[in-house]
Amino acid sequence: MNLAVKYRPKTFKDVVNQKHAVITLQNALATLSIASAYMFTGPRGIGKTTLARIFAKGLNCEKGVTPDPCGVCENCKEIEESRNVDVLEIDGASNRGIDQIRELRENVRFIPLKGRYKVIIIDEVHMLTQEAFNALLKTLEEPPKNVVFIFATTEPNRVPDTVKSRTLRFDLKPLEKPFIVERLKKIAELENINYESEEVLELIAEASTGGMRDAISLLEQASIYSQGTITIEKIKELTGLLPTEIYQEILQSIIDKNPKKILEIVEQVVAQGYSFEDFQKGFVKAAESLLKAFYGIEHNAFSPIASKFNEYQILFLLRVLKDMELDTKSATNPKIFVDFHLLRLTKIQSELELIGNINYIDTNFVSPVATPKVTTEPSYAEVEAVIQNSNSIKEEKNELIKYAIEKLKLREVSDGSI
Ligand SMILES: [Zn+2]
Repeated sequence: MNLAVKYRPKTFKDVVNQKHAVITLQNALATLSIASAYMFTGPRGIGKTTLARIFAKGLNCEKGVTPDPCGVCENCKEIEESRNVDVLEIDGASNRGIDQIRELRENVRFIPLKGRYKVIIIDEVHMLTQEAFNALLKTLEEPPKNVVFIFATTEPNRVPDTVKSRTLRFDLKPLEKPFIVERLKKIAELENINYESEEVLELIAEASTGGMRDAISLLEQASIYSQGTITIEKIKELTGLLPTEIYQEILQSIIDKNPKKILEIVEQVVAQGYSFEDFQKGFVKAAESLLKAFYGIEHNAFSPIASKFNEYQILFLLRVLKDMELDTKSATNPKIFVDFHLLRLTKIQSELELIGNINYIDTNFVSPVATPKVTTEPSYAEVEAVIQNSNSIKEEKNELIKYAIEKLKLREVSDGSI
C-alpha cells in the first residue's frame, strides 16, 4: 500500500497551504476563463502534479466544468489514477527530446475523446531540450482549442522566458512543519501507526523539508522498518541523523576540554559511515536544543549538559558551527575542518580570555582620567560585537590584536610618551 498516493489531495479543499493557487484556479473554472497554459513551480513533493490533476478533473468532470469536481464519476476517477485518455501525464526528464514533443503536437490536434479538454501535464518541464522547447513554443503560440498545458517544475529558471511568458504561473509554497505534523498525526491514527512521541513526527517533517509526499512515504517506511512503535532512534537511522549521544559526548568533551576525546568521536562518526553533512545538520539541531534547554524554554535530552555551559560558551558554539559549515562546504577534505573547529570548541575559554584582556586594556587605558575599572569577563554584547565583526577566527584574532595595539598607542599618546 502506498500511503503517499492514498492520502494525496483529491479535491481543491484537500489542498492545504496553497490558498492563492487554489482560489485562482477555482475562479477560472467557475467563470470558464481557462488559460491555455499554466506553470506550477516549487520544491519536490509539495503537490504540483496533484494540483494539476485536480484542475484537470475540474475541466473534465462529468458534472460539467466545475470548481468542485465530484471525484466519483468515471472521468474524475480515471484522472485520479492517471489513466484518462484525455489527460496526458508526461515526465519531462525521460521525454525531453524533440521527437516526443513533435508526437505530442500531433496528438493535441485531435479533439478530446471523453472530456471537454485535452490536458497535457508535463512534469519537470525544465528538463526538455532547447529544440523540444522551440517545438513546444510553436504550439503555445497558436494553442489548439480545448487544449490546456500544465507545466510543473522545481527549477523555473531553467525554462526559457519565451515559454514562461505564455503561461499563467503559480509558485507553490513548501508546507510548514506544523501542517505536516498535523497531517501525519491524522494519517498515523487512521492507519494505526504507533510512534514514541510527537518528536518522531517532527523529525519526519524536518527530514522531508516541506514536502508532504516525502513525509508520508517516510512515515510508512518507518512504520515498516520499526515493526511496532516508531522510535526517535529508528527515524534517525532511517534519515541518516546521528544518535543524540554523539552530540552529548562532544558537548561533554568541550566542557572537559578534552580534544583527544573529540577527535576519537569524529573518527567513530566516519567509521560508522555518516556523512559530514548529516553530522553537521544534526549538530545544529543539537545546538538548538541545547540553547532551548539553557534558557529553560524546554526540557530535553540536552538539559543536563546545558547546565554546565555558560552563555558565552553557547554563543561561541553557534558561531563555530557556522564557521564549520562554511569551511566544509567546498572542501575536498571536510574532515580536517570538522576536527579543527571542534578543537576550537575546547579552547573556548582562551578565546574568551583574549577578549577579556582587550576589554581590560580598553577600560583601563583609553583615558588616563577615567576611573580604572577591572573587568574580568566581557559583556554579552561585546562578545557578540566581536563575533559579528569578523568572518573567521583568524580575522577575529587579527582584529583583536590590531585593536589592542591601537588602544596601547592611544594610551602612550595621552601619557605624552610619544
Ligand atoms: Zn467528476
